[in-house]
Amino acid sequence: MIHDNVWTTYNSEDIRNVNSFSRDYIDFLNKGKTERECTDLFVEMAEKHGYRNLDEIIANGEKLEKGDKIYAVNMGKALMLLNIGEDIVKKGMNILGAHLDSPRLDIKQNPLYESDELAYLNTHYYGGIKKYHYVTLPLALHGVVALKDGSTVKISIGEKDDDPVFFVSDILIHLAKAQMQKTASEVVEAENLDILVGSAPLKGEEKDAVKAAVLKILSEDYGIEEDDFLSAELEAVPAGKAKEAGFDRSMILGYGHDDRCCAYPSAIAMFDCPDVTTTACGLFVDKEEIGSVGATGMRSHFFEDTMREVLDRMGIYSEINLTRCLRRSRMLSSDVSAAYDPLYAEKFEKMNAAKFGHGLVFNKFTGSGGKSGSNDANAEYIAQLRAILEKHNVAFHTSEMGKVDVGGGGTIAYILSLYGMQVIDCGLAVLSMHAPWEAISKADLYEAYKGYKAFLIEA
Ligand code: MN
Ligand code: MN
Repeated sequence: MIHDNVWTTYNSEDIRNVNSFSRDYIDFLNKGKTERECTDLFVEMAEKHGYRNLDEIIANGEKLEKGDKIYAVNMGKALMLLNIGEDIVKKGMNILGAHLDSPRLDIKQNPLYESDELAYLNTHYYGGIKKYHYVTLPLALHGVVALKDGSTVKISIGEKDDDPVFFVSDILIHLAKAQMQKTASEVVEAENLDILVGSAPLKGEEKDAVKAAVLKILSEDYGIEEDDFLSAELEAVPAGKAKEAGFDRSMILGYGHDDRCCAYPSAIAMFDCPDVTTTACGLFVDKEEIGSVGATGMRSHFFEDTMREVLDRMGIYSEINLTRCLRRSRMLSSDVSAAYDPLYAEKFEKMNAAKFGHGLVFNKFTGSGGKSGSNDANAEYIAQLRAILEKHNVAFHTSEMGKVDVGGGGTIAYILSLYGMQVIDCGLAVLSMHAPWEAISKADLYEAYKGYKAFLIEA
């Protein structure tokens, strides 16, 4: 059943719950602006909830059994949570899978240069962005610089009240006659997304004195030399805090809702279900925005190999047991959907569009051009999920990513479906997806949490 606007169904206790859950989420968003930071936050929370590091369990030669909770971290950028229930091979798992990476500007490996007494960092954008969004916006630098001695320097500059911020300049409107004739994809060129990081020259320095001044600060404050950028992963992200939005405070404007607004309620649902019958699994992966590639993306063997280790620790490892466990699992690919935008109504088909305030949203399929590249979920599975959500009074609806042939997008759903498990995309409606500041509805966030929990308990 498709509910009415869920706000109209809330009593005062529901509203308190929505607000309290939203506050915690905003706090999470403000602390976790990169996949690494989100991974660290989830590990910290997992340990508080009695989850133990799988690496330690393997190193100690310990066994795993029903009731054990473990986490496994993949290169500091992705993680898996597992709460072991009954008969993992026969029943499979209930899996919530989200991604932790978000679009941004990555700093290049050889980034720092000076041009006409201004110092810049060269960038290469990550994920699908409208490049013009990233000019004249306060940016913060987050990430790591790995040093030759094996140590790693963590960087976070631009978030504290007294921190400096960085920015990309844009040509003033007065001189933009030619620029304004360009198409939106060319109005700001990718190689012009260079971040201004300094303008004061180092006294006594003759050549590139502004760059020299920046390098002096990096050396003194962080122990970093110019060559250390070679082994750094630095991300320029919108600086500042997520906020409640609207007179009615019904929305949240923040950076990285895609996909942290699904990752966060998924993780909390895991932590809030300490006793499960069916094994509960939380997958939080990296690199979704660039095709789920690499060792930390969903297409890597990390998930499968971690399951091998788990079955091995349970004393039941065999290829056929692994195959059966995965094939008999169910998954919610917790990822975001395009929220219906009345200002761009012509891009949507209203009857099959995600709407703010209508709760969790299922996408039976994603992809583009005739469902190409999508995981088309099974009707039988959707029926099972409908029944669960209705039983737990969770608001939900279904959508497609805009009108047919208008565009499209993908998630990690199709990758898990390769195991033969039941998979469907299920997340939140987002306005201005992939923009520096995206918006969601607080009610949808709360319904997602309720829905993910119901799934872990009942599926
Ligand atoms: Mn996403
Ligand atoms: Mn995305």
